[in-house]
Amino acid sequence: MKNRYTAPFGYTFHQGQLVVHADESDIVKQVFADYLAGSSLNDIAEKLTTSGIEYLPGRSDWNKNRVKRMLEDERYLGTEQLSALIDEADFHAVQTQKHQRNDRKTIKAESHISKVTVPVVCAACNLAMTRTHNPKRKIADVWCCDCGVKVQLADEDLLAGTTEVLNLLIDAPALIKEQPQQIDETQQLEIRRLHNEINRNPTQQDIFALAAARFAAISDALAQAHMLRSVFERVVPLAGFSKELLEQTVSQVLLGDGVYLKLKNNQIVGKGDGHGTGFATTHGAGNPCAA
Ligand SMILES: [Zn+2]
Repeated sequence: MKNRYTAPFGYTFHQGQLVVHADESDIVKQVFADYLAGSSLNDIAEKLTTSGIEYLPGRSDWNKNRVKRMLEDERYLGTEQLSALIDEADFHAVQTQKHQRNDRKTIKAESHISKVTVPVVCAACNLAMTRTHNPKRKIADVWCCDCGVKVQLADEDLLAGTTEVLNLLIDAPALIKEQPQQIDETQQLEIRRLHNEINRNPTQQDIFALAAARFAAISDALAQAHMLRSVFERVVPLAGFSKELLEQTVSQVLLGDGVYLKLKNNQIVGKGDGHGTGFATTHGAGNPCAA
């Protein structure tokens, strides 16, 4: 006779020992798999209830909290008494998804645009853009630049576009390349100065100094690209907007004919081959921002 009150779902007592329960352990694995495949807590609870799966003798009325507790139960990773039912990668993937799904709900609920905490700039001139919101307009949100560019872009689409570009990089971190132009101004001035010095009066000291300055600049570019690539290699594809990943890897969001991200190594990445998501952009004519 199974002691439901002390054995976690998926295990049973056999001759005083906790052992894996064949049928129940399959159900635990299925619950984790269903959740990872996109089922909601409610979907899973409904499926278990409909199948008449008992969590206590005579009780099969599953709800989302019971399913949630199962997905959060670290004992399924194995303990001294219990053999593992779920491997660590799947378990952690489930926890990450839970956070992301919560984030997505939060985005819908609150004023989500405040989540874009990096500057939004004009792709044409690189000036900071101003967002205006007027619910009477067909697309309520319009971003304007002093140069005359106006981009009509609903907040949800800005978040979705940003997420899409981040997912592109998660999918292919190799897209991130060393950017030679990221050599900073001080480094550039120093390289130019040494270069001129050597042209006028080549000394071994200056030649070495120039080599060292160039090497330092290249190392920075390599290190930055490497850092970014390793971040994207470690992240699982985003189910919703991630403020954390954006802040960690992106210095500017550029708006033009699409959403582009300027990464911290100054590389600009957008959808497709440099073309954005393709939404309405106007220049000059009409003035949605003045409205
Ligand atoms: Zn502009």
